[in-house]
Amino acid sequence: MHYEGTIIRPPSEANSILLQVTVGCSRNKCTFCGTYAGERFRIKSDDIIMQDIAFAAAYCRRQRRVFLCDGDALILPRQRLVRILQTIRDQLPWVTRVGAYANAKSLKLKTPEELSEFRRLGLGILYMGLESGDDATLTRINKGADSVAMIAMGAKAREAGFKLSVTVILGIAGRERSQIHARETGRVLSAIDPDYVGALSLMLIPGTPLYEEWRSGAFTLIEPSEMLEELRTMLAETRLSQGLFHANHASNYLPIRARLPKDKEAILTMIDRALEGKVALKPEFMRAL
Ligand code: SF4
Repeated sequence: MHYEGTIIRPPSEANSILLQVTVGCSRNKCTFCGTYAGERFRIKSDDIIMQDIAFAAAYCRRQRRVFLCDGDALILPRQRLVRILQTIRDQLPWVTRVGAYANAKSLKLKTPEELSEFRRLGLGILYMGLESGDDATLTRINKGADSVAMIAMGAKAREAGFKLSVTVILGIAGRERSQIHARETGRVLSAIDPDYVGALSLMLIPGTPLYEEWRSGAFTLIEPSEMLEELRTMLAETRLSQGLFHANHASNYLPIRARLPKDKEAILTMIDRALEGKVALKPEFMRAL
């Protein structure tokens, strides 16, 4: 397989065939994100992508899922994405699901008909970075979309039939707006009603604008107990019809996995016990991105 630059994928795609169709991220402006720093966004050539699918057809017969890397594969022009999905379907018939990152911009650029076409061709799950439902925080981190746009684009993805996984970041609002961020994120998650929510805990990446804000004192990194309080409020404010709320990323201090609404009260009680010091938190050295 031809890989260039940094390859990331959601934790749930750990066993997937990683097919890199773009290099970098078409936005590449979020202040906390150092994943594609200095990387010029580009779409890989059809020849390379087709060679990689042929390689997967020969050597990846046990992997039943494909993940389209990098940052927002949904930005591909319709015809190119259709060709990739059709080729995956033809050459890797054992693959049951294709996934990709999507953001508000790439979802906005596609019509409902185009999204439905991708869905029919096997693109089954989209991963969307919400980060926060708080508009002031979304502006501050330069996410490029407000909560109204996030809700609309989440609805657009769901109406096209995609499974939707939404990522939020504990600590991203700093100390002053911590609880507002938690409540507003719960509000937006409830409005989107995704199938999965993944809550990460902020880790500052040297070289990013947010890291420089932290160094200058303009941004405060909250303590683990404050992240837990944020998580508690966010979970309490999130009403999903039947989604899974995960906070079990390697970056988190207290791994949780809750099927909402049924597990909500039990998990809130567990968080309360952790806040009282009755449940151990993950030590700093064991956290990772
Ligand atoms: S957070 Fe996502 S959209 Fe923002 S720069 Fe990083 S990869 Fe791109």
